[in-house]
Amino acid sequence: MLISIDGPSGVGKTTITKRLADILGLRAVSTGAIYRAVAYAIKKEGVSLEDVEALRRFVEGLKIDQEYKNGEIRTYLNGEDVSGYLDEPEISDLASKIAAIREVREALLEVQRRIAGDDAVVEGRDIGSVVLPYADIKIYLDASLEVRAKRRYEYLRSKGLNVSLEEVKREVLDRDNRDKSRSSAPLIRPKDAFYIDTTHLSVDEVVNRILKIVRSLAV
Ligand code: C5P
Repeated sequence: MLISIDGPSGVGKTTITKRLADILGLRAVSTGAIYRAVAYAIKKEGVSLEDVEALRRFVEGLKIDQEYKNGEIRTYLNGEDVSGYLDEPEISDLASKIAAIREVREALLEVQRRIAGDDAVVEGRDIGSVVLPYADIKIYLDASLEVRAKRRYEYLRSKGLNVSLEEVKREVLDRDNRDKSRSSAPLIRPKDAFYIDTTHLSVDEVVNRILKIVRSLAV
């Protein structure tokens, strides 16, 4: 079974994806972490974003893997576990910038499909619309900007990052605008996705709503 979870930054996609995967006995896949790993590689190697064909070749040459183990999504770049480097604000910003480049998205399409396989809960921005249009169940999560900024802020603080709420709110808004306005695979709500506004819902409430949908469809 394949379940796609799309939605804007800070909506709680990764948390919900992991919880669902645990309950349903599926793997959790974070395509956001894949974009972040690519951003990390680009920064480390000092690759320019100007020459998009060279950038495409660079991304195609990366070996990216992901596994879900003991409730953790681990992301590997050329065999190295880079999960610990992916939450830095600089990486968030660069991931969002490179995600707007068509050549990068194209180079990552098959990578994401390979990692997703046939049995997974997969989170991202264009999973139900572009990466896995054949997903069995599509979910679109949403929440107000205030609540999303607060969730992201709390997550970053829990990881020990020293950020302010205002800073995080600005970052979330910038990334939203980029995700929604890019010409290649923008963040949209797929027509066949179940829409859940999580602004006033707890994680458990969101998970239970999705489980109800899964059970009612009995895929
Ligand atoms: O979800 P997360 O914040 O980890 O994603 C990092 C960035 O990667 C996002 O800001 C978004 O622009 C991009 N992204 C994307 N398509 C996906 C997943 C992430 O454009 N499927």
